[in-house]
Amino acid sequence: MALPIEKYNTKYIPTWCPGCGNFTIHMALKKALSDLEIQPSETFISFDIGCNGNGADMINTYAFKGLHGRSIPLAVGAHLSNRDFTVIADIGDGGCFHEGLDHLVHAIRSNYDITILIHNNKNFALTTGQATISTDRNKAMYGLPDGKPERDLDITNFILSLSPTFYAKTFSGDPGLLSKTIKEGIQHKGCSVIEIIQLCPTYSKELTPEWFKNHSQDISTVEEYQKESLPKILEFFSKKKNDKIYTGILCKIAGIKTYYDNLEYRKEYKTNLVEEVKQYSIKTLLKNFE
Ligand code: SF4
Ligand code: MG
Repeated sequence: MALPIEKYNTKYIPTWCPGCGNFTIHMALKKALSDLEIQPSETFISFDIGCNGNGADMINTYAFKGLHGRSIPLAVGAHLSNRDFTVIADIGDGGCFHEGLDHLVHAIRSNYDITILIHNNKNFALTTGQATISTDRNKAMYGLPDGKPERDLDITNFILSLSPTFYAKTFSGDPGLLSKTIKEGIQHKGCSVIEIIQLCPTYSKELTPEWFKNHSQDISTVEEYQKESLPKILEFFSKKKNDKIYTGILCKIAGIKTYYDNLEYRKEYKTNLVEEVKQYSIKTLLKNFE
C-alpha cells in the first residue's frame, strides 16, 4: 500500500512561477516514492543551484543543495556510502549539460545505482533566462539578443552514445507518465537518467503543452522499436529524419553490473561505508594537527 503522500511534504510553500513545470515534477517524484513505499528517512536527494534546487526545502527526505552542476557527484557519494538508501540527483539542464557534464558522463559509464532527474526547461532560469545548450538557436535570450552563437547538442543522441542502462524522456505536463517513469527509474538497478522537458512559462514561453503535444510521440507506439537493445536503439535514432521528440523509456538494458558490484574487494563486506567509519576513532589522527 502506498505511503501517505503528505509524509513527503514540509511546511514550506513553493515560490515557483505560476504554471512552472517544477510543481508537477516535484509532485510526481513524491508520488513515485509514496507508491514504492520508500520511507522519507530512507531517501537522499541532492539538488544544485537552479529553480529546481528550491525543491530541496519542500521535500521531507534527506536533501542537500550543492554547488551548480554538482548534484550528481553528491548523489554518487551518498549512494556509495550507504546503499540502503534510495538516492536521487535532481539537476537542471544548465547544471547538467554545462558545469556538470563530466559528472553525467561518468555516472552513466560507471552505472552507479542512482536516479538522475534532469529538469530541461531549455534555459538557465534562476539567473533570468540565459541560453543553455538546449536553448533553441536564434532565440533571443538574456545577454544574447541575437541568439546563442554555439551549435546545438542533440541530447538524446549524446546520452545514448554513452551506453546508458536506463534513459527516459518525459514531459512535466504529463504527471502520470512522469511519476510512472520515475518509479521505473528508481526500481532499475543501475544509473537511471530521466530527462524531463519542463514547462517554464517565464523564459521558454514557446514551449507550451500544445507545442509539446504536436511535436512528440510516445516511443511505445513505434512498433519496431526495441528499448532493450542498444545497437537497435542507436540504429533507430541514426536513421531518424523527423524532428519528433520521442517520449517514454527509450533505453532499458538489463544485466550490466553496477559500479559497486564491480568492486571485487567489497564483495567480502556486508556493511555499508557509513557503518564502517564509525568503527574508527580519529582522535589520534587529529592529534597530528594540534
Ligand atoms: Fe519555473 Fe521558469 Fe519560473 Fe524558474 S523561471 S520558477 S523554471 S517558470
Ligand atoms: Mg534550466
